[in-house]
Amino acid sequence: MTKTIGIIGGGQLGMMIAQAAAQMGVGCICLDPSEDAPAASVCKRHIVAAFDDMAALDELCRASDVVTYEFENVPAEILRTLDDKYHIKQGIAPLCDSQDRLREKTRAVESGLECPRFADITDIDSLRLNAEAFGYPCVLKTRRLGYDGHGQKVIRSRDDIADAAAMLSVPCILEEFVRYDYETSVIMVGDQQCGYIHFPIGRNIHTGGILDLSVVPAPGMDDDMRRRLAEGSEAFMRHNGYRGIMAIEYFVCGGRFLFNEMAPRPHNSGHYTIEGCSTSQYRELCRYLLGLPLEEPQLKAPAVMKNILGQDLDSAVGIAAERHPDTFVHLYGKSESRPKRKMGHITFVDCDIERYDAQWRDKFVKQ
Ligand code: AMP
Repeated sequence: MTKTIGIIGGGQLGMMIAQAAAQMGVGCICLDPSEDAPAASVCKRHIVAAFDDMAALDELCRASDVVTYEFENVPAEILRTLDDKYHIKQGIAPLCDSQDRLREKTRAVESGLECPRFADITDIDSLRLNAEAFGYPCVLKTRRLGYDGHGQKVIRSRDDIADAAAMLSVPCILEEFVRYDYETSVIMVGDQQCGYIHFPIGRNIHTGGILDLSVVPAPGMDDDMRRRLAEGSEAFMRHNGYRGIMAIEYFVCGGRFLFNEMAPRPHNSGHYTIEGCSTSQYRELCRYLLGLPLEEPQLKAPAVMKNILGQDLDSAVGIAAERHPDTFVHLYGKSESRPKRKMGHITFVDCDIERYDAQWRDKFVKQ
């Protein structure tokens, strides 16, 4: 019997889930408020509705054999009701936890992972107190709805406290400022019953708070660090009873790695797995959702993934037209292009950072 996967959200992650599902002969339905949501073009049905539209979410779940999410900010109350009635295979715990920076970091520490020092901030007094304790600079973040550097402010000195306090109309956390060597992310799929698979770990390079490049394998990361990252991340999933797909972002400082945040969905830094690995994060999520055995991914060759933001869209279209070997241009078909909006990505396979610098870097807008 042909199955249907329901996807809450219809962005580029939903599009790539649906593409992977289609290759397996499985159709998808997405729910997204935007008429031109990227996933709509590859899903057999698109329910155009807000993420808090209970009737529409109910319809999505009823029409699907199994449900997943690619958008994190669905109200928790709504998720709870859906989870009681339908087959949301990952459950809602990882999603609810990822919606709150305080909760996810608390869970990380309880699971044995190291985090940057953090504190719950409720008012200007607790902000002042903790900033003095952590030292300057430190970072104030909204507990909810932060992404790509939005909803956060670096406090550089005592003089910045009054300005930063404007953020305190919503719950916040304060973090110590980490002088990390580089950022990385671990993407895995599985559960206690079927075991876990891990994707090769890359180095993530952000510009202006947005991922710019993922370089795989991570330059400078040794096998011991790779093993400890994988083991620590798996322990985090086991300890919290999370299942399905999970991406965890870390700061690497010397021999330590510090948890930054989690996302229980495919991750931007895992786009490279489509062509760079023997199986992708999207395909393995689908296999998980469909109850098929998971396949351990193998890296085919070193890869560099470049995010294409609005300012680089023309360059990406030009590179696509030139049809370079081992160069895979993905455009998300968003009707409106803006600087800093994710419009596509390019995976350069059989490419390392030196080759990227020599051959490709100059083709894109310098950030
Ligand atoms: P986030 O939204 O928490 O992933 O933060 C976006 C980016 O801000 C990260 O990728 C880091 O480059 C930077 N950042 C976030 N938290 C910290 C921190 N505690 N110390 C230093 N840099 C940070």
